[in-house]
Amino acid sequence: MLTIGCHLSASKGFLHMAKETVAIQGNTFQFFTRNPRGSQAKSIDLKDISLFQAYAVEHHFKPILAHAPYTLNPAAENPETYEFAKLVLEDDLKRMEYLPGNMYNFHPGSHVGQGTAIGISRIASILNDVLKPNQTTTVLLEAMSGKGTEIGYRFEELRQIIDQTQLSDKLGICLDTCHIFASGYDIINHLDDTLNQFDKVIGLDRLKAIHLNDSLKPFNSRKDRHEKIGKGEIGLEAIVKIINHPALKDKPFYLETPQDDLSGYAKEIQTLKELYQAQPDTNLGIIQNND
Ligand code: FE
Ligand code: FE
Ligand code: ZN
Repeated sequence: MLTIGCHLSASKGFLHMAKETVAIQGNTFQFFTRNPRGSQAKSIDLKDISLFQAYAVEHHFKPILAHAPYTLNPAAENPETYEFAKLVLEDDLKRMEYLPGNMYNFHPGSHVGQGTAIGISRIASILNDVLKPNQTTTVLLEAMSGKGTEIGYRFEELRQIIDQTQLSDKLGICLDTCHIFASGYDIINHLDDTLNQFDKVIGLDRLKAIHLNDSLKPFNSRKDRHEKIGKGEIGLEAIVKIINHPALKDKPFYLETPQDDLSGYAKEIQTLKELYQAQPDTNLGIIQNND
């Protein structure tokens, strides 16, 4: 079964997001842990959390994905920017444990002139401070488009962050199809090669989530502009191959396409479900023969 959902506003709480997800035929969702620009998080609503958890079980939800504010820069040279990123990540991860066993995604950051190697070591140093041995949340590094001085637009850079992190078993990767297409991975003509490269450099077992977006900007443009599914430079045909690829088809997919309202996501989910080939259960024949 396709695991799919979209980015939702968290303003009305977890139960509300879950109900919206069911209304658009999804079984997971993504949300910002706080205002995307990084302000104070809302206080934890235990009632909402327990209602959500029961609802999620009832409706067969898959793990959900939290997204850190995208303005954080854990690679920053500026001490205040760096400390702020650490504080937010630390607080978010503490809060995530109220919903055990889910995922938390963040943008690795931009080195803003210090160079990639220093940026990477700063990101890893934050992770070494905020990751805890007993946490149940998997923290995902998002693969980026490579705009400006962004770190994490090459698989090798993501690998280096993992290598410099002590509790690296807590880390996974989120591939954003718009980002990696824009950063120069040809997922239209060379999806197999791209995934083989990912497997060689990072390992497919680290791939925990996919942001499924089309790209307004062309291949290798290093520009991050999402487009509706099938309306951009990646196109529907390539996106259908992505959701059906044996290495990807069981991963959770999160839409971050520009939509005015939920009906846009509902349509995309419906289209993708129609084009998703449920694999026949290979054991079925054997079970039937036992009758
Ligand atoms: Fe993101
Ligand atoms: Fe993304
Ligand atoms: Zn993006």
